[in-house]
Order: sequence, then structure tokens, then C-alpha cells
Amino acid sequence: MQYRVNPRNGERISALGLGCMRMPGAALGRPDARAARELIARAVELGVNYLDTAYLYPGNEAAVGAALEDLGLRDRVLVATKLPHASVKRPEDFDRFFDEQLRRLRTDRVDYYLMHNVTSPAQWERLRALGVEAWVARQKAAGRIGQIGFSYHGSAGDFPVLLDAFDWDFCQIQYNYAGETYQAGTAGLKAAAARGMAVFVMEPLLGGRLADKLPVRAQRIFTEAAQTGGAAGSVDAGPALATPAAWGLAWVWDHPEVTMLLSGMGSLSQIEQNAQVADRALPGCLTPRQHEVVARVVEEFARTNRVPCTGCNYCMPCPHGVNIPGCFSAYNASFAHSWFTGLSQYFTASAVRTGSPKLASNCVKCGACARKCPQHIAIPEELEAVCRRFQPGPVGWMLGLLSRR
Ligand code: SF4
Ligand code: SF4
Repeated sequence: MQYRVNPRNGERISALGLGCMRMPGAALGRPDARAARELIARAVELGVNYLDTAYLYPGNEAAVGAALEDLGLRDRVLVATKLPHASVKRPEDFDRFFDEQLRRLRTDRVDYYLMHNVTSPAQWERLRALGVEAWVARQKAAGRIGQIGFSYHGSAGDFPVLLDAFDWDFCQIQYNYAGETYQAGTAGLKAAAARGMAVFVMEPLLGGRLADKLPVRAQRIFTEAAQTGGAAGSVDAGPALATPAAWGLAWVWDHPEVTMLLSGMGSLSQIEQNAQVADRALPGCLTPRQHEVVARVVEEFARTNRVPCTGCNYCMPCPHGVNIPGCFSAYNASFAHSWFTGLSQYFTASAVRTGSPKLASNCVKCGACARKCPQHIAIPEELEAVCRRFQPGPVGWMLGLLSRR
């Protein structure tokens, strides 16, 4: 495993971190305890020493805590979790949430603690008025919090303002080859690193959309590059990149400013494949030719990326039963692959066949979902576009009626 050094405290962190949000589970986001144990055990065996969870991921902190206790691995990993800051209404709520998180995680400390999903400096100012700075100082002095940071989904312009609003140890940003100018972006990555902060990357593969769900034409660009030597780095010895996922991860690790990237690995094979890439994808690893290949894929991806949904499920559940990420995944697939692929996915994801209607046409535009979306997607409006694509005309109208019964 490749390790990178946290510039703030000198800690060695595996370049590959385990994002626990996408662990397999029976219910929405609620991980299966046995699967969580297996994934964590294998990841640690391969050298991963950073696990990321959050209060708001259903059942996730408890599953991670139980797995670490059962496996006796707590002292071999750095545990990160996040404060649901929008729910903090009074100064005593900081302790209330944090104590509950320690109980769920079965630990006496959180190594990396984040303000979850910050989208504007005003949110931090609100917490400051509630006394968050003094609270953080007390927790750090007591050894209950190691490093303090935030995960970010706001604008590029607001990011430096937030960086300067507090003496942060680290930040976590969404970053991948398809989003160099999206949210914090490359400018934000460099700005944070220039301030001596550790920078952790989330969504390096956009929830799989830059991996197995990549548009076919973009996949072909990677395949051809492999066949002609552009992937194997035959010209100037870049890493061998066998899959779209490997390309996406290596592109992030190529940046020396990145301390660690989180991958939401949901299977043992994903962990093993990603760990292999992590071994070789050192800062500056990609050759100029490999960068050219990625640039062509970016162009192709942008052409078919209609709704920038990462499938994070933050918007769920919809009170009217709409499977929001399922609808957008199908919609994007209809451009990236074919209309029939998308349509078939739409009806499978919408669970029409099971009698549990979740068609986009069930949306009543209440707006509850859009407020929670870290990608700032205008969900009701985009669902209308989904309807136009998959439920046009009288047939679609009939299906919509049937699905409401
Ligand atoms: S706006 Fe539509 S999709 Fe969103 S929560 Fe309301 S009904 Fe559900
Ligand atoms: S619509 Fe937004 S909140 Fe919902 S799954 Fe997609 S990215 Fe996440």
C-alpha cells in the first residue's frame, strides 16, 4: 500500500481510504454486519488504515464500530465520522451528537472529525455562534478528536472563504477527472494544500459513473489506449491501467496535493483491485500520453452526463416513493449506452414489476429532496425530463396512473 503523509500532524495515511457509505446492505444504506466485517478486515489486511463514516449514513457508524471491535482493529485504523451540523440547534447538541457517535463507534475518540456536507461559509458562521470553536478545542485537548475538518459541496468561490474561516486540519472535497472545475475543483485542491492542510478526496469515480457505468464510447477510448500502449505507460513508464476505475483513481493520485482518496468499495474484489492501483499510482505517475487519453474521455463523458447524480441517496426516501437516484441512473444510461438500456433500467429501478411504484411521474414537486442534494440538482425539474424521455405520450401517462394505485 502507498502511504502519504498528513502535512498537519505527520500521520501516515493509506492513499486508499475505505468510504463506508456504500457498504452492501439489506435496506437503503443500512450495511449488512457480516459484509462490513469482511470488507473492513480485507481492506486493513491490504494496508488501508482510514475508514470514513457519518452520523447520517443509516446504521453505518454502528456497523463500523461493531466490526472494528469484533476484529480487534480499532487501534490499527484512523476513524473518521461527521457531525450532522444542520441538526445542531443548541450548544449542548455538539456533545449530544458526539457522545452518541462514540457509543455507536464503540470508541473513546474520533481521529478525523468533519462538519458534514458544508455548502457555504454561512453554515460555519452559524455553528460558530453556537460555540463550535471552543467545543472543538475542548475535545481536542481531551484527546476525543484528533483532527478537525469539513466535507464540502459548495461553490468554487466560497471554498477559499471557508478555508480561511477556521484553523482547519483537513478538508474533504469531491474531485475526479470529470469535475476539475466543479465545487472546490483543482483550484480548491491547490488552495487547501497551500495552506498546509491534508486534502481527502471523495467521489473519485462519481459513484461508479467513471467506472463500470462509463459511457461505452469513453470505455472504448481507454480500451484502445491499453491496446496501443497508452495505458501501460510504455513511452515513459506510467502505471498499467487495466480498467476505467483504475484510470479514474490513478488520475486523482497523480496529484501530489491529494493526501488520500476515499473509495466506496462494496466488494472484496473492488478492494483488491483498488489496492493494487494504489500501490503504483504515486504523485506525478501519469504520463503526458495518459493525460491525453483522460482528456478525450472527459470530452466524451461530458457529452452524455445529463444529470450529475452520484447515487449518494442523501435525497431519499422520497415521501411519494420516487426512486430518485434510480431514475437519474437510468436517464444517464439512456444517453451513455442506449435508450433501451436506460428504459429497461428505469422500469427495473422503479420497481414497477414489484407493484411498489416509484416512477418519476409520482413526483408532486414538494421540493423536500432538492434541499438535501449535495450536487445541487434541481430534482423535480430533472424528473420531468426523465418522464419526457421514458414516459412520453399516452402510454407513459397510463403507466403513471397505474403506478399511483
Ligand atoms: S420533489 Fe418529488 S421526488 Fe422530491 S421528495 Fe418531493 S415528490 Fe419526491
Ligand atoms: S439526486 Fe442528489 S442527493 Fe439524490 S442521489 Fe443523486 S446526488 Fe445524491
